[in-house]
Amino acid sequence: MAKLRTKAMVGKVLTNNGVVEPIKDGRQITGYRLAETPHTDAQRATLQAMCDAAIEEYISKHGGAIWDHRRQDSGYVSGSTRYNVLKRAKHRCELCGGHEDRVALHVDHIIPRSKGGPDDISNFQALCMTCNTNKRAEDDTDFRGVLASYSDREADCIFCELGAGRIIAENELCFAIKDAFPVTEHHTLIIPKRHVADYFDLYQPERNAIEVILHEQRRFILKQDKTVTGFNVGINAGASAGQTVFHVHVHLIPRRDDDVVDPRGGVRGVIPSKQRY
Ligand code: AMP
Ligand code: ZN
Repeated sequence: MAKLRTKAMVGKVLTNNGVVEPIKDGRQITGYRLAETPHTDAQRATLQAMCDAAIEEYISKHGGAIWDHRRQDSGYVSGSTRYNVLKRAKHRCELCGGHEDRVALHVDHIIPRSKGGPDDISNFQALCMTCNTNKRAEDDTDFRGVLASYSDREADCIFCELGAGRIIAENELCFAIKDAFPVTEHHTLIIPKRHVADYFDLYQPERNAIEVILHEQRRFILKQDKTVTGFNVGINAGASAGQTVFHVHVHLIPRRDDDVVDPRGGVRGVIPSKQRY
């Protein structure tokens, strides 16, 4: 609770007091920088003295309890560990790849100290605020290596070996191509760059990246082709579900009024006799 409070509070309080200003990516706050202040050196020294006095007063009032968060089992991370973990992570979130210029990075134990995790550097990872918050507190998944795995490619996989000329859109983690055997005109596939067979093995940042391209391509198709009036979005996960290329891809299939006699049921048609209900 105290940890959550500190995370949520500090930025707001310091911003309201004009000490820091938020760094924003659209509407999302990704970090804070010190606010520019017009103070002279003398004014700064006075402010510092006032702060020191306030801190002294706080310490004498609350006693040793204020250092509880630094107890060995509290999850406290020393400055040098933090520095070395961030350096090892090349100053990027080890899950989504966000750089510390854009996102605030947290250094945390992988296996919490309370569960016997050591304070050794091997038991730390750097995650951005978003990835760290989405991860539940008791989740001790080791995300180190996830970032490197984004460049996993497989020989003889048609989606790993596509020429750049085939790619119609891309972001850091995924890309889009036109399906070579389109179900309807503008049938598009959105594909993660990492070679991974099953949709359910994607990492959340890859799902987010796919979602972004999915929306972009939908908008693009609607703009290009006014006859499109709907879409089927589909993933075949596993051979029994019809998957034929074992590198994840999301089908974006434009639909048009009257492109089939009775479209009702849509994706239910994977079992043709059950399409109608
Ligand atoms: P799935 O059955 O879900 O694995 O879908 C594979 C999709 O990939 C099908 O819609 C194929 O038309 C499409 N496809 C297969 N080979 C290629 C290729 N070389 N380039 C683009 N699309 C392809
Ligand atoms: Zn592949």
